[in-house]
Amino acid sequence: MKDSQILHVGKPNIGSREKFFQRMNQIMDNAWLTNRGPFVIELEKKIAAYLGVRHFISMCNGTVALEIAIRAMCLTGEVIIPSLTFIATAHALQWQEIQPVFCDIDPVSYCIDPKEIARHLTPRTTGIIGVHLYGRPCDMDALRTVAENHNLRLMFDAAHAFGCSYQGKMIGGFGDCEIFSFHATKVFNTFEGGGIATNNDALAEKIRLMQNFGFAGYDNVIYIGINGKMPEISAAMGLTNFECIDEFIEINRMNYQVYRECLKNIKGIKLMEYDESDQCNWQYIVAEVGDDYPLKREELIKKLHAENILVRRYFWPGCHKMEPYRSYYPNAGLLLPNTEKISSRLLVFPTGTAVNQEIIRRICSLL
Ligand SMILES: *Cc1c(COP(=O)(O)O)cnc(C)c1O
Repeated sequence: MKDSQILHVGKPNIGSREKFFQRMNQIMDNAWLTNRGPFVIELEKKIAAYLGVRHFISMCNGTVALEIAIRAMCLTGEVIIPSLTFIATAHALQWQEIQPVFCDIDPVSYCIDPKEIARHLTPRTTGIIGVHLYGRPCDMDALRTVAENHNLRLMFDAAHAFGCSYQGKMIGGFGDCEIFSFHATKVFNTFEGGGIATNNDALAEKIRLMQNFGFAGYDNVIYIGINGKMPEISAAMGLTNFECIDEFIEINRMNYQVYRECLKNIKGIKLMEYDESDQCNWQYIVAEVGDDYPLKREELIKKLHAENILVRRYFWPGCHKMEPYRSYYPNAGLLLPNTEKISSRLLVFPTGTAVNQEIIRRICSLL
């Protein structure tokens, strides 16, 4: 079997090859490969306008964007995050010796439960990082209230939420800042890449300095920094894919609808719903495998993998059950009943431009 016949979650969405190659030639002609070249500047402008934010600072990837944002916001001590997320949310804190404190999720939204935050507060708590899991927004109003009441900073890991909105406003403009990932597996990719969206001018300036070693002009370093720059080649890919973003999202939406139609009569498989009154990117086809399904989730996965359908268990078993957190906080699970229950049931199906109706019907007929 050729690799192209293997269906996996997160197969990249790729726009016009011709336009990408044109841009690549331009990069070679310009001989400007990185350090805020013309494509990076153009991409940042376009994304800031799309998200309706004052600043979008592109980055080499989403994880470094998280690390820089956390540092620029002066988070220290302990920061409250959900455990049901990609491990980078936790690592970005622990990498700089800030303790991630795992909070349970709401069983309907799968996002951090604002009502659970209070029990995790200590004098060392400095912030909350909400994650818009699978592109479904956190309960922003409740989170803002908790953050304000306890004098905490609030930011979001919006790695899944590019192209999504909350009550009519694009994700990107909430909290002190929001972080995006443009990794190859996300709905919009720049090979590797990401960025930080914010409406806070001072924060944006600090982030720009930190991203470029703290350079404020030639030979003048005024801050501790790191290298978080997006290269021109990634920006060229970004501009090319950005021209197709509506198309990618529309394909995801149609795929979702076919899955919904095909899964609705399968007992024990419950498809995650999106709030269609807001903009969604429909990036993830997520289902819960219930007790009333004839197979255990792991057995079902085995069978689908044998058919070359590489479904995934994102994000099982939760960050609190992975190292080093499992060893640091062996009892964290006691306060995470919804996380443990839901992560043991989740199944993510292939979608994106690599998938069509016929494939989805075949997958569902196997179920
Ligand atoms: C993908 C992802 C990241 C990390 O982004 P990279 O660009 O791969 O570094 C962080 N958080 C979440 C929730 C993600 O899904």
